[in-house]
Amino acid sequence: MLLTIATTHRPATDLGYLLHKNPARVQSFPLSFGRAHVFYPEATPERCSAALLLDVDPVGLVRGRGAGPTGGDGASLAQYVNDRPYVASSFLSVALSQVYGSALSGRSKERPELVEQELPFEATLAVLPCRGGEGFLRRLFEPLGYGVTAQGHPLDEQFPAWGQSRYFTVTLRATTPLQRLLTHLYVLVPVLDDEKHYWVGEDEVQKLLRHGAGWLAMHPQREQIARRYLRHQSRLTRAALARLVEEDTPDPAAADEVHAGEEAAVERPLGLDEQRQAAVMAALHAAGARRVIDLGCGEGKLVQALLNDPAFGEVAGMDVSSRALALAEQRLDVERLAASNGQRLRLFQGTLTYRDRRIEGYDAATVVEVIEHLDPARLRAFERVLFGEARPATVIVTTPNVEYNARFEHLPAGRFRHHDHQFEWTRAEFEAWAHDVAARHSYTVQVAPIGPLDPELGPPTQMGVFRRG
Ligand code: SAH
Repeated sequence: MLLTIATTHRPATDLGYLLHKNPARVQSFPLSFGRAHVFYPEATPERCSAALLLDVDPVGLVRGRGAGPTGGDGASLAQYVNDRPYVASSFLSVALSQVYGSALSGRSKERPELVEQELPFEATLAVLPCRGGEGFLRRLFEPLGYGVTAQGHPLDEQFPAWGQSRYFTVTLRATTPLQRLLTHLYVLVPVLDDEKHYWVGEDEVQKLLRHGAGWLAMHPQREQIARRYLRHQSRLTRAALARLVEEDTPDPAAADEVHAGEEAAVERPLGLDEQRQAAVMAALHAAGARRVIDLGCGEGKLVQALLNDPAFGEVAGMDVSSRALALAEQRLDVERLAASNGQRLRLFQGTLTYRDRRIEGYDAATVVEVIEHLDPARLRAFERVLFGEARPATVIVTTPNVEYNARFEHLPAGRFRHHDHQFEWTRAEFEAWAHDVAARHSYTVQVAPIGPLDPELGPPTQMGVFRRG
């Protein structure tokens, strides 16, 4: 069993500090089921890869436990002769927690500043059993922002007619903190294998929730993940899912109240909120859109303006924050609306980084001051969900122009307009992003300024109007 993790971060040998394993040495660690070896096939400033080789001892396993790796009673041949020594399975998760324990829990003594950083990683699993096939493999990793390459292996090289096995060589690529990558492997490798070597009890629910923190609750396959991880024990699965649902109502600090208090305080003197709304409405009119969805609608100001305009026959708002949605319901007086205008309006909770059929079928989608709240590693997922899957004829995206921040009197230099902003782009950065997304998803795009134009720094807000090609 071989797992290789490579990076091209400069200097790439920082990987040694992140994993707490010196690139110059080969190290071995005893485990209850065999041995783990860590070594670096390459370690240059440009590229560094760390290999974790697991040497699982199938005989020791059976002797040590009295029951086979598949949980059967008595000694059968399958207990001695099976795939366990060669494939990535829950043994890998145990090895990750024992050999890469510090990295898995997000600690680095010597490079603490690197721990949170998103670095380019490539993880290769030499042999990964995938029950559910390549489709399921992709459904697990792609929503988390990974580029997935999978090479299937035939059951028998000499007899292609026997068809494909469930074994794949898999490479996952993402720009992410290392801890996030290790956590995903820790949970999802045994899920794909769908066979756990140890007894699953209550503490596994804890482990699943701990390692799933921040991503599992929003994962479209979370039920399948919980069921398989907990080895199909329905009582435990139900307990885990119930607790995930509690976590599923994340209220990022981006809830619009907070937003209004902070970003608007910076921008208010310009009346930017109103100018953005006017620009977006004008672009929607120009596009001839009738059914419009506002993604990341916050407390629903744009949704309200759309409802007040008879040109828009159907209006929807989606946001990840339940608090923002509650405010939107109040603002729109949804109860009263239902009587007259109700069929025209839908408000619902969801996230822009997972495929969601509820956002499909609209003429236009607006994404106003939202992308800068997304984790940059999840931007690709957002692009795929909106431009690749929902594919409305028109998409309107607005975001701050960071160059203009120098003109905001009350904004300290170097600070973003809102503490939850993950990034703010220059005009060139937004242009480049917009054209790249358009090209990759067969859209055309026009970028337009919103707000007063500074001759040097440009406008405070930038807008991209995308048209499906
Ligand atoms: N469009 C509104 C709100 C902008 S604030 C306006 O212009 O006033 C950003 C909003 O994006 C917040 O309401 C936040 O909850 C929402 N948001 C952040 N991440 C999201 C995600 N992944 N999916 C959907 N909404 C998200």
